[in-house]
Amino acid sequence: MQALDNDMRRVLTGAAAAIVVLSLFATWLWQNRQPLDAIALPPADRAPPAADALTATWFGSSMLLFDDGETQILIDAFVTRPALHELILDTPLESDAAAINRFLLDFRLDRLAAIIPGHTHFDHALDLGAIASRSRATVVGSVSATNIARGGGVPDDQLIPVTDTAELHFGEFTVTLIPSLHLAYGWNGRVPRSGTVDEDFESPAPVSAYLAGRTFTIVVAHPQGTSIVQSSAGYEPGALAGFRADVVFLSVGMLEGMGKKHAFAYWQNLVTMSGARRVVPVHFDDFTAPFGTTRLPPSFIDDFTRSSTWLLEFRDDWDRSTALELPSFGVPIAIYADDLLEAQRPGGQAQLVPSRQLFDTRLQNLRPAAVADRLAEHQRQGAAAAQPL
Ligand SMILES: [Zn+2]
Repeated sequence: MQALDNDMRRVLTGAAAAIVVLSLFATWLWQNRQPLDAIALPPADRAPPAADALTATWFGSSMLLFDDGETQILIDAFVTRPALHELILDTPLESDAAAINRFLLDFRLDRLAAIIPGHTHFDHALDLGAIASRSRATVVGSVSATNIARGGGVPDDQLIPVTDTAELHFGEFTVTLIPSLHLAYGWNGRVPRSGTVDEDFESPAPVSAYLAGRTFTIVVAHPQGTSIVQSSAGYEPGALAGFRADVVFLSVGMLEGMGKKHAFAYWQNLVTMSGARRVVPVHFDDFTAPFGTTRLPPSFIDDFTRSSTWLLEFRDDWDRSTALELPSFGVPIAIYADDLLEAQRPGGQAQLVPSRQLFDTRLQNLRPAAVADRLAEHQRQGAAAAQPL
């Protein structure tokens, strides 16, 4: 009996020691991360934008606010930051009403026309219902996105589900959604939590309920400049052929784990193909950090210090005149078109071109023939231009 007790004690002591060592190791892994200033990219917000400038403001992850002084468009809705244990235990997540109100007030989101998530994982769509309900903005996105919003109490007349390429107009903005692919960084080359969110979605829901749905590349065109937002580091080969953009907001989350070859193809399909003169990486931050805090994720999960050197290399090899710049949380970045700058240069011949006309020309150039054909066909069938295809 005594021998058995001693054996048992030894086993328990051994197990306790193993748990201590494993937790120490897990803590070390979690805290082993690079500082933000290890990223050798210049800031995207060097000069404060003019009062009437078109701006994009980054709010962590791939959430961006486009604002031209009259109309605001929000890409993604992710203010509530779940704690690590809530992600691991998959507990239902409630939108943080106080944090959302503070966000809407502090950053003056009082002219919000649309909320457009790139896809519907929780780090893009968790607060769709809460923000849309408080702002009356239209939710535009996949059927999963509109189901999440409806489950969060948003009425149907505030929802525009999109199943294929769609072009919508909000004030001076022309927003095009183009089907794309989510990064397949999961086990066996799969997209983690793929699948679609059903009509019976109810919030609060755990992270596992936020399935990716359809992933879209979002082209935000405006007379002052055109941006592309990619919410995940996947791509549909050739999908952007013919599209032109001035700025690409390029998701880089988990890019490093996919390897340099994937990163190169990603760069080519988003940046080289669109001819963008500026690239602003997004989704490089740890989304378990409090809203407003920018820190890199643990190096064992994702190493942006490594993938950012790849991006610099691709830029130097393929797009030498393209700037690669890092955004700061909540600081507006002026968006401008290079040809518009050219047109506004004193004495420049193009100075006489009115911006609306210049924009229409740019929009024509921006639309690939295939999209233009589908839009024309759609209009022939009598549907309104602002409705999704
Ligand atoms: Zn995702």
